[in-house]
Amino acid sequence: MTKRITGVHRSPLLRRFNASAIFANIFHDGPITQREISRAVGLSFASVTSVVSALEKKGLIQRSVESSTNGGRPAALYKCNSTYRYVMGIEARKDELFFVVSDLEGRVLSQSTTPFDKKIGRDGFLDLLLRGANDQISNFKGRETKFLGIGIGVAGLVNPEDGSVTILSHLSNWGNIPLKQILEEKLRLRVVVHNLAAAAALGESWYGLGRGKKNFLFLSVTDGVGGGIVINGQLYTGTAGSAGEFGHITVDDHGPVCTCGNVGCLETLISIPSIIQSAKNLLADGVSSAIRDIAGGDLDTITFSTLVEAAKREDKLAYKLFTDVARYLGEGIVSLVNLLNPEMIVIGGDLVQAGNLILDSVNDVLKRQALEVARKSVEIVFSELGGSACALGSVVPLIEEFVASPMLD
Ligand SMILES: [Zn+2]
Repeated sequence: MTKRITGVHRSPLLRRFNASAIFANIFHDGPITQREISRAVGLSFASVTSVVSALEKKGLIQRSVESSTNGGRPAALYKCNSTYRYVMGIEARKDELFFVVSDLEGRVLSQSTTPFDKKIGRDGFLDLLLRGANDQISNFKGRETKFLGIGIGVAGLVNPEDGSVTILSHLSNWGNIPLKQILEEKLRLRVVVHNLAAAAALGESWYGLGRGKKNFLFLSVTDGVGGGIVINGQLYTGTAGSAGEFGHITVDDHGPVCTCGNVGCLETLISIPSIIQSAKNLLADGVSSAIRDIAGGDLDTITFSTLVEAAKREDKLAYKLFTDVARYLGEGIVSLVNLLNPEMIVIGGDLVQAGNLILDSVNDVLKRQALEVARKSVEIVFSELGGSACALGSVVPLIEEFVASPMLD
């Protein structure tokens, strides 16, 4: 007589619930044995075997055999079949659109960049967005149904309720764009819309240095200064979606006026354009510097890389610039560390280029000014994901949803 397994097998709802827990365990912790799964999710070995076999049959997971280390029978290891589904991530940067198609583990399968001039206007921008997304999908001919959906990160305030973009800061006067609605209608795929820095925080959390960290902050420094807050492994977006606007922490009461109306915001002192402007102001005063030589005498050609290069040559002016940046950044981070007590702060964006030049000084500011208990538990690091954190992170909610309901039936 066949031994009857009680409970979980007979109820479709329970079985789905168990399948979800087991698939999530394999997805996040695989390769993993059935015994380990059983221990982790608190289900009997028999229940795990039944669900694992269904997941494998459906193609959601893959098996490999691990040779035994203690002379016993070799145990099979299970891991997610990462190419079971694809996702597309898009980052709408100030002058280009960046598209990435990846598998469920964030492995990039295809990517492209489409530059644009902001004079193209709102409709031109949307056209370009749709064309780029369609081009990417057509790279996967015959496999279009594998797409779970599209995530997009945009600079601006995103309404978490309907995915409309209420401010697109670098694309002036385009008004409110119902981005999610437009893209879903035209592309017939699910679309999730995020603030750019929040999406990058998710990318760091799943694929970058923030992986496995429960509480961490992402601080992005490019044309603006923004960020994302991950608490207990979840992105915290705030009541109106504006959480993580780290750029508007006041660090100098007598500093420049900010676009937000305040004075001396972090963004006015350490955004890349503000650093370049400070360099130009000092050079215009006639201070001698290697920056001028590297730029070939033409101050208009100075980029952030020019300043980094000069600092590496131990140029005094560049050194002063980065000392100031480290001090202001450090002071901003002191507020964050005291308030949120994160285990890690990942700094991303163009400032990463200057990571080695400023890290020690930032840590010195923390040592002097932050609460000891908070300072000792935090690590400050620079992102290693390069430019893809936002695009990869924007699709995380779609993958999370898929992992939570693997649809066995
Ligand atoms: Zn401000």
